[in-house]
Amino acid sequence: MKTLDEYAVLAEQAHGHMCAGQVLGLRLALYGLKLLGIDDPTGEDRKRLVSFVEIDRCATDAIMVVTGCRLGKRALKFRDFGKVAATFCDLQSGRAVRVAALESSKQRARELYPEIDNKNHQQMKAYREMPDSELFAHQWVRVHVGEEDLPGFKGPRVSCESCGEGINFRREVVRDGRTLCRACAGEQYWEPA
Ligand SMILES: [Zn+2]
Ligand SMILES: [Zn+2]
Repeated sequence: MKTLDEYAVLAEQAHGHMCAGQVLGLRLALYGLKLLGIDDPTGEDRKRLVSFVEIDRCATDAIMVVTGCRLGKRALKFRDFGKVAATFCDLQSGRAVRVAALESSKQRARELYPEIDNKNHQQMKAYREMPDSELFAHQWVRVHVGEEDLPGFKGPRVSCESCGEGINFRREVVRDGRTLCRACAGEQYWEPA
């Protein structure tokens, strides 16, 4: 593992700026990996980890930097719950831990650095230093990760009988005997303009 400072440099490059959310994300991922005993997530252990993130904000970019889990590698899963939380699944041991940021951490940052007016700066400084227990709650959980959701899954590709587009990873649905993509089955998020 790199140090928090080293990760901060990488995170700033990846995200475009440094902010409290990034520090929190770095700490959150480091804590999760520590609990799982994974210490080389982008090297030797790179195939061990699948991460579920619950928000699409600054912290998520930082979690990607530490874990090496990316959407394009299928090792990062997004569940849009709007929470600064993530679950780290160790595919080798089958263990998983969910780490969530505590609401009280903002108040704690205010207590630690009342002299810093800028909330972002105040929290950035505090979140670097606060112990894990003041920043996060964690819980050991079980996550069912289907084989079709695993990195490296190879399965048959089918075509939607309505729109003709190809569908990977068993994402098709069968409706009244027809094989459809999720959009044609009613989950379409867009409409023709
Ligand atoms: Zn940010
Ligand atoms: Zn379709």
